Order: sequence, then C-alpha cells, then structure tokens
Amino acid sequence: METKEILQLAVPPLLGWYRVHKRTLPWRGTHEPYRVWVSEIMLQQTRVEAVKEYYVRFLERFPAAVDLAAADEDEVLKYWEGLGYYSRARNLHKAAKIIAAEGFPATWEGVRALPGIGDYTAGAICSIAYDMPCPAVDGNVLRILTRLFADESNIDEPKTKSEFSALLKEVYPQEAGDFCQALMELGAIVCVPNGEPLCGQCPWNVLCRAHAEGREERFPVREQKRARKVQSLTVLVLEREGRYALQKRGKKGLLSGLWQFPLFEETDPTAFGEVLKKKNAKHIFTHVEWRMTGYLVRAKEFLSEYVWVTAEELRNVYALPSAFKAFTEWIKKND
Ligand code: SF4
Repeated sequence: METKEILQLAVPPLLGWYRVHKRTLPWRGTHEPYRVWVSEIMLQQTRVEAVKEYYVRFLERFPAAVDLAAADEDEVLKYWEGLGYYSRARNLHKAAKIIAAEGFPATWEGVRALPGIGDYTAGAICSIAYDMPCPAVDGNVLRILTRLFADESNIDEPKTKSEFSALLKEVYPQEAGDFCQALMELGAIVCVPNGEPLCGQCPWNVLCRAHAEGREERFPVREQKRARKVQSLTVLVLEREGRYALQKRGKKGLLSGLWQFPLFEETDPTAFGEVLKKKNAKHIFTHVEWRMTGYLVRAKEFLSEYVWVTAEELRNVYALPSAFKAFTEWIKKND
C-alpha cells in the first residue's frame, strides 16, 4: 500500500479517537485567531502542563491584540517570566501592534509574515482558527508519521518535513482544525517520544508499519546531535540594605535584554563584600549548558553599574529568566 493510501485510511480513526480522548485544555475549542496564536506561540518548545497557567493569566491581562499592543514590553515579559525563549514574547508584542492596526491576517502567507511565526505555527493557526488545509509539521508529527510508515528518512533534514507536509495536504479532511490538533494530541499522549509508545491505545495500531514490525522505537531516525557547549559562570546575588543588584543583558544573543544577577565568567566574590552563602546550579538551553556557582554576598557598597531593587520589585516588576531560579529562591528566604 502506498503511503498516501495508508494516510487516507488513517484520517477517520484518528478524528474519531481525538473526539473521544482529547484532553481538556484552556485553549481547546477556541477558533479565535488571537487566542489560537497566543497558545501556539506559548506551546513552542514548551510542555502543555507548563503553558496552561501562563495562557490563562496572559489572556486575562491581554484579552485581545489591542491590549497586548498597548502594553509596555517589560510588562509583557513579566507575564512570560519562567516560560523561557523570551524572543517569543517580544515577537508576540511586535506582531500584536501589526494586528491591532491591520486586523488578524486571513491567509497563510499573511500569518506566516508576522514576527515570530514559522511554517509550523502558521499551519497550526490557519488549520485551527480557519479550518484551512495547512499542515503543521513538527517533530511530534514527524515521529508519528515516520512510525506509521516505518519511514527511515532523517527527520532533521528539511526535505523530510516538506515531503510529509505535501503528503498531509493531500489527505486533509474538512475538519482541518481537529485533524491538526488530533495529530499533535496523538504524538503527545499515545505515540510518545520517550519510553514506549502506547500502541494498545492507538487508533492506528492496525495500520502502523512500525508497530507491525515491532520497531516502534527505531523511529524517528535523526542525525547525531551536536554536543551542547558547557559554560562555567559565577552568579553574584549582591544584597545591601534589603536591595539586590540587577543588570540588563546585552541586546543580542541568549536571553537578550532580560534582567539578571551580576554574571561573570570568573570573578572573586569576596571583592564585592562578605560571602554569606554559596550554591551550584545548572541550566540547560538548546545549545549551551550553564554551570553556575552562585554566591549570596552582603555588598560593601551600592555599585553604580547595577540597578538595586527590593525583593518585592524583583518578584513583581523585573522579569528574571528561570536560569536564575535557584538563586531567586535564596532571596525569598531572606526577604
Ligand atoms: S501504533 Fe504505536 S508506534 Fe504506531 S502510531 Fe500508534 S502509538 Fe505510534
């Protein structure tokens, strides 16, 4: 059987399964483009469980694109604090200004042209909001399809994605939004990436070649990942008279423009004052791993290169990336 035929046969059981088994999520059921867009941006590289609460809070504060467009960037970042990949929040803010002025784009090309939107997100928004046959192919979808066909294509090659995208387009049903979400849902809760896929609960278990061959875990085929770069850093939590030193990161690169505790490749903490505590923490980004040694230091002076903020301001006003979470907990304990 050809792959297209298999996929055509796979659509109805998948839709039937989705209607019964889909999870209740705060963004499910909405076709409002703004809400679909916010959810899709939040879900990029981020677990569903982590997004739920952020999504609800964000939409309470910014219920429409005009509200988001009118907000200050620092406030938008504050609502994003802890979700990571902060360029998403900046692009969301930039795009909201365009949407507030021109309305939400009604075509795939228009959606794709907004800041921060790639092919996958444009496909997901158009499918879910407008029921357009626009495939959204990410690693999850590639995993379930390569298993379904026992396809050994390397999913890290861009052409694999475009080939599966073209194939999906040919079989897209009228209920495009449900189909798009059903593919994602199957990848999230049944045909899972790590550990064993739950083939016994899968609507495709009679069609799936990988399952028939007992080779589910062979797929997807990926190129060897490059090792992450490891960086050793020193973090100083400088405290003086109930205030803490913060600095803003540079405009380019990792966590650009966000606030952080003074961060050094190497420094002597005792030069800043009396060291009260020390702890090690690690944070893993996509391409780099930070191994941090943090010091809580009673600073001997208010150094002018830093902004000195209270613990309350730190919690409510300044967005600190979760890379520093181990050290913010320190502050709460000392508040
Ligand atoms: S049968 Fe198993 S491997 Fe195949 S798609 Fe379903 S869960 Fe994935």
